[in-house]
Amino acid sequence: MHNDGYREKGLRQQLVNELIQKGIKDKRVIDAIGKIPRHQFMDSAFVNFAYVDKAFPIGSGQTISQPFTVAIQTELLDLAKGDKVLEIGTGSGYQTAVLIELGAKVYTIERQRGLFLKTQQFLPKLGYNPQFFYGDGYLGKPTYGPYDKILITAGAPDIPKLLIEQLKPGGFMVVPIGEKTQTMMRYIKTNSGELLEENHGAFSFVPLLKGTANDK
Ligand code: SAH
Repeated sequence: MHNDGYREKGLRQQLVNELIQKGIKDKRVIDAIGKIPRHQFMDSAFVNFAYVDKAFPIGSGQTISQPFTVAIQTELLDLAKGDKVLEIGTGSGYQTAVLIELGAKVYTIERQRGLFLKTQQFLPKLGYNPQFFYGDGYLGKPTYGPYDKILITAGAPDIPKLLIEQLKPGGFMVVPIGEKTQTMMRYIKTNSGELLEENHGAFSFVPLLKGTANDK
């Protein structure tokens, strides 16, 4: 694993300053991004770019989300300590680590077998221990639900209905909706079961795909 030294810490601080300038306000999110060694989540070919505010390839045709996007999605979840969170799209596990830093109990699903295996091995080495699942996130994980919050880290063509059912009353779902580009949506399930929706701007994600891929 690539060392976390003064150079990486300095670059990380610059990234944090950039995110604050771009409008990220939640101190807990800022602190988590300031602490987590993002370069260790990336292929060695990209470690020099780990603290650039961009998405980068992580294998299996997928990307580690842009830090600004991770920050926005986490802010929108408005986490309380101990919240039960279902995350769809484990990928590199970077977003998972941010959620755990904020005190969430995380259940995370990945459909690419290679990425699932790699991240399940790697993340506990940094001290992050979510429950990992290999499967189709469209189906959620009803056995462990209902969840306080659900986060989808890939672009969904429309609202995944089965996931809404696994949300507690009063819970939120944060999901980028759209085919080519996405709109960041936050759905709030009211105590009477109604769904309120908020639009939080344009983003670009890899697609949420059906089924699983046995790429390894
Ligand atoms: N949040 C992660 C990954 C973002 S990319 C990170 O920052 O590293 C989105 C991830 O969602 C990819 O790894 C992709 O394989 C996964 N994905 C896409 N559709 C999925 C589905 N139906 N179920 C589970 N994971 C899915």
